[in-house]
Amino acid sequence: MSLAGLRARVRGTVLEPGDTGFTEGSRPFNSRYADVIPAAVLSVASVEDVAAGITWARENSVPLVARGGGHSYSGASVTAGGLVLDLRRLDSVSVDADSGLVTAGGGARMKALYAGVQPHDLVFSLGNSDEVSIAGLTLGGGVAAVSRGYGLTCDALLSTDVVLADGTTVTCSADVNPDLFWACQGGGGGNFGVNTSFTFQAQAVRPSATCLLLWEWSHATEVVMCMQEVQRDAPDGLSVRIGLSRAPDGPPMVSVVGWHLGSAEELRSLLAPALAVARPFRADIADRTFWEAKEYVQHETAGGSFAGRTRTTPVPLSEAGVRTLVAAVDKWPGSRNPDGAGAALFGWGGAINRVPVEATAFPHRNTLFLVSLDTSWAVDDGPEVMRDNLDWIGALYEDMGEYASGASYLNFTDPELADWRTAYHGPNLARLVEVKRRYDPDRFFRSHQAL
Ligand SMILES: Cc1cc2nc3c(=O)[nH]c(=O)nc-3n(C[C@H](O)[C@H](O)[C@H](O)COP(=O)(O)OP(=O)(O)OC[C@H]3O[C@@H](n4cnc5c(N)ncnc54)[C@H](O)[C@@H]3O)c2cc1C
Repeated sequence: MSLAGLRARVRGTVLEPGDTGFTEGSRPFNSRYADVIPAAVLSVASVEDVAAGITWARENSVPLVARGGGHSYSGASVTAGGLVLDLRRLDSVSVDADSGLVTAGGGARMKALYAGVQPHDLVFSLGNSDEVSIAGLTLGGGVAAVSRGYGLTCDALLSTDVVLADGTTVTCSADVNPDLFWACQGGGGGNFGVNTSFTFQAQAVRPSATCLLLWEWSHATEVVMCMQEVQRDAPDGLSVRIGLSRAPDGPPMVSVVGWHLGSAEELRSLLAPALAVARPFRADIADRTFWEAKEYVQHETAGGSFAGRTRTTPVPLSEAGVRTLVAAVDKWPGSRNPDGAGAALFGWGGAINRVPVEATAFPHRNTLFLVSLDTSWAVDDGPEVMRDNLDWIGALYEDMGEYASGASYLNFTDPELADWRTAYHGPNLARLVEVKRRYDPDRFFRSHQAL
């Protein structure tokens, strides 16, 4: 492949292995895929560069993937021997304080989004990691700790510009190209084109309270059973993440991280049943501004290699289901990654569930919890450690099939998922396939788990 023709067509930079910026522009966040090396990275300077990159890749039969923040769990934004469109320079964010309209470039990441909206006290559901891009987040749905109150990221989307496989650019919204717009609301990145701009409707931030509760492991089952009911019966303002986790050194732990769009007094009273079930050894419950709460729940990760698998449930897990999670976390095979492993129940529902399932491509509109399983290992852990961890999470995923549904969240992309089409897209699969046929008839965008 000669890159000279590509260089002649673009304002941006074409990088090859060894060039400064090549690794930064292509290396996946998940080190599990660090050995997937593309032939070149086009660091785009404009929407025209996106179109030129797509046209060049088509003409030269080179596989192409778009890369926003590179945070795909399965390394979907890098392709061996292909061309990576690094979109990070499309990072503009503009906010109209009067209308609450927020427009972001296709490569803008959370840090820039938050910096744009915070001065106006406006928000919509945004991710909890600085480097996740708005494109990956929105196209896969986008869940924040406040989504039970504010809806999904894709629910706030009003329009988006997409460069299609034939190099043309279209705008889509509920009125223009509505089928493509529908697909961009949760149908998955890397499927229909490269989105270069997104416009959202933001809302006013609300007073908040947060909690961090930690219990000894001996209370795990009773606490999880009780907290599931707390979340089920709570108003939309409360979202909790109920965690069972284990790090390489130290005992396993039960945790509840919560964000309530209301006062600490209300939060304390909502949590009262769980606080009565067993005494936490740490209980921080406090009033916060919205922005303090956002900092409080920010996701810290050591990075390295990891795997995640998900299921969903519309009702609290049975005691047998909870005991299955607890027993598995007890038996985690271990690794040297400080993130360790665990299982978490993310409280969904609320405003997410009030959108009809066929209104957007995101299908999980009857969910109480995302049941998320994760494990991690260090880059210098041997191959047997990786294998043991993948076996562990695979067995737990299978065991949980008795207690939770097979529906999976596509933004926690799972390369091991056998029937990923149905698991990710559910009842919206057939319509998504139609949209794919219409806008990408030759299946030019064909990265891992693309339709
Ligand atoms: C640390 C961490 C924290 C996270 N936090 C959250 C969270 O709070 N809420 C949540 O819902 N999810 C969260 N996620 C999951 C995250 O939403 C997905 O991994 C998402 O796909 C990442 O988007 P990205 O652009 O950063 O990743 P990338 O790997 O760059 O892209 C992901 C997919 O989208 C495609 N893509 C990228 N840009 C475009 C574009 N402009 N047009 C079309 N396709 C594109 C890529 O080709 C790839 O298929 C988190 C993930 C991590 C690793």
